[in-house]
Amino acid sequence: MTWQSPIAPGLSWYQASVGERPDYPALDGSVSVDVAIIGGGYTGLQAAFNLAKAGVSVVLIEAHRFGDGASGRNGGQLGTGQRAWPGELEAELGFERSKALFALAENAKHYLLDFARQHEIDIEFIPGQLNVAHKPGWEADYRRDAEIMAERYGYPHISFMDRGETQERLGSTRYHYGVRDTGTGHIHPLKLLVGLASTAAAAGARIHEMTPAKAIRQAGGKTLIDTPTGTITADRVLIATNAYIGNLEPVTAAHVMPIRSFIGATVPLDKFPSVISGSEAVADSRFVVRYFRKSRDGRLLFGGREAYTSDSPRDISTHIRRQIAEIYPELEGIEMVNAWGGSVGITLPRKPFAREVMPGVTSIGGFSGHGVMLSNYSGKLYADSILGQGQELDLFKELKIPAFPGGARFRSPLLFLALTWYALRDRL
Ligand SMILES: Cc1cc2nc3c(=O)[nH]c(=O)nc-3n(C[C@H](O)[C@H](O)[C@H](O)COP(=O)(O)OP(=O)(O)OC[C@H]3O[C@@H](n4cnc5c(N)ncnc54)[C@H](O)[C@@H]3O)c2cc1C
Repeated sequence: MTWQSPIAPGLSWYQASVGERPDYPALDGSVSVDVAIIGGGYTGLQAAFNLAKAGVSVVLIEAHRFGDGASGRNGGQLGTGQRAWPGELEAELGFERSKALFALAENAKHYLLDFARQHEIDIEFIPGQLNVAHKPGWEADYRRDAEIMAERYGYPHISFMDRGETQERLGSTRYHYGVRDTGTGHIHPLKLLVGLASTAAAAGARIHEMTPAKAIRQAGGKTLIDTPTGTITADRVLIATNAYIGNLEPVTAAHVMPIRSFIGATVPLDKFPSVISGSEAVADSRFVVRYFRKSRDGRLLFGGREAYTSDSPRDISTHIRRQIAEIYPELEGIEMVNAWGGSVGITLPRKPFAREVMPGVTSIGGFSGHGVMLSNYSGKLYADSILGQGQELDLFKELKIPAFPGGARFRSPLLFLALTWYALRDRL
């Protein structure tokens, strides 16, 4: 029977295309380890892999199945840099730190692609990304940003696209101009996750599905994690639950909020060769960003709708189909084979959250929709920090991430109002 994630709606096309995945047994009983990891997405599994490879005894527990969180259900776009554009980071943090954060993201990109290559994981990488403007008026900014990237950040792969080029590459007249980034691309996220889990297990990490952490406590200089069948005792703990933290740990929960995002997959677009003829990933300039791309077998994978409450929309396909038709009228009524959602972990300033939340317990998440490459690399950087091999994670730890206002009770309604206002502005 096909597995349906209990924490996210819909069967994803990724699941359908991967088919049966290996099962990993639930943890049975109590164990003592050097490092325990809670959460089996990219962040947790990369940390487990890198620690096990170095000979550290590590156990990872995942409440459901690997890939049920954002890592198995996302848009697959790698992007470049941080979620915030370098100019914005530079104004806030100064040039040196902004440049260091850009370099970290480039390291993340190379790390991910090298990791897949080395471990022969077919992640279906397709190069290229287009960032396109849904409104006129910011053309000079787009041009300048492309120049800044080349001149100040030494990244020569971004070029400005005028209206003609934008519309030609997209096969749509709905966007005005944009930039093309030939130094990045998009991947099949679940294939990466499945390959990563088996690579971590082969390196000696003990990884367990269907094992929720129920509580985290501290005693005698150790951290104890209660599970349904026992207790994990560890010197160090990584909380890698991101948007799915729930009530497990209050500091993470106060700083990382879940937002639901939804994606639909169409049948292959063989009859519509002009739709993204270069097969790049596309992200637009809306606050509720529309992100779309073609899979290796030519389907349109279109993400766009967001929800700020835990309710799932009744018919994800209908909403996604409507958004597709706004951009590609010729695809009106196109058959959707899968539609699904997942929770993106966001922070207030849309920058990653990495913090010691209790002695010896680090929490990492809040990549704010830009986590495919950053979460993989953050897991590796966490391992490096345990092994005393690098300080790059400190760049994230030093970022000022305030808690969401309103406390546990009111932050969702407040955020709902704020985000609904921004979403409304997209439509005006
Ligand atoms: C629909 C969607 C589209 C996206 N598109 C993009 C994109 O195109 N590009 C991009 O860069 N980013 C994108 N993202 C974001 C990206 O997927 C995430 O940043 C990244 O996958 C985060 O990985 P993670 O390991 O930190 O968290 P996750 O992959 O969410 O993993 C957290 C895991 O923790 C587990 N867990 C929670 N509580 C417990 C507990 N108590 N005990 C044990 N386990 C627990 C959960 O079950 C889950 O599997 C998207 C996200 C979504 C949802």
